[in-house]
Amino acid sequence: MRPPRSLLRQFYAQLDAALAEFEAQYPQFLCPEGCCECCLFAPPFLLSLAEYEFLADYARRNLSLTDLARIRAAAEEQAQTYEFAEVVAAEEDPAVRERLPRTRCPFLEGGLCSVYSARPLACRMFGRTIFTSGPEAGRFNGCAILMEAAQPVLTGQTLKIHSADSLRQKIINLSVLIRMQGGVAAFNTLPKFIAELGFSWSERDLLQNFSGAVFWPEQPFPGQPFSHTW
Ligand code: SF4
Ligand code: SF4
Repeated sequence: MRPPRSLLRQFYAQLDAALAEFEAQYPQFLCPEGCCECCLFAPPFLLSLAEYEFLADYARRNLSLTDLARIRAAAEEQAQTYEFAEVVAAEEDPAVRERLPRTRCPFLEGGLCSVYSARPLACRMFGRTIFTSGPEAGRFNGCAILMEAAQPVLTGQTLKIHSADSLRQKIINLSVLIRMQGGVAAFNTLPKFIAELGFSWSERDLLQNFSGAVFWPEQPFPGQPFSHTW
């Protein structure tokens, strides 16, 4: 069995290729050059420990100690502005999501993501996917800028677009696999992961300090992108 980290790397590579194909087919979903609104006003979102480990490893190898310290200080401040339970509740309730603070992602530097190739799934799929289940089924997982660009051209058309829920399920399944192999599978927000664990930690640190959640879903791996009438 391949180690989970290499499975995550493979998943990111496949996803990036699939999303590049989507953008080539529907250039309306290409972000305007220089735009970073979603990173400037980012709501807290959930990511897995596997994604965070991947990102933290990249950050340790590529960012300076000064940058890491600055990022951690900003994350510690942001992590105090909401509770983990509110972020979980926001998954199901748009009204709760609206109340969550929106803050500048600590990895945004000079209008660019300083951990771009290691960014979490939520950042990769934002603006390129749609929700397909739960109370938000049918909602575009993206910003008003892309909606405005896409809607006039695509209204009435049937698009092949990936499901945000299905992609998240892959990460949850990966976390289950990690747990089955004896590792720790956990979820939290980016600022809380940084604030609680820093960029280098032991399993003991994790078990003692962690305020997030461990999920145990049993759904099968999801399939291919589906058709959605815009
Ligand atoms: S997803 Fe939207 S807000 Fe984010 S960079 Fe693209 S156009 Fe800008
Ligand atoms: S990790 Fe990168 S892409 Fe994601 S919100 Fe932060 S700056 Fe933006």
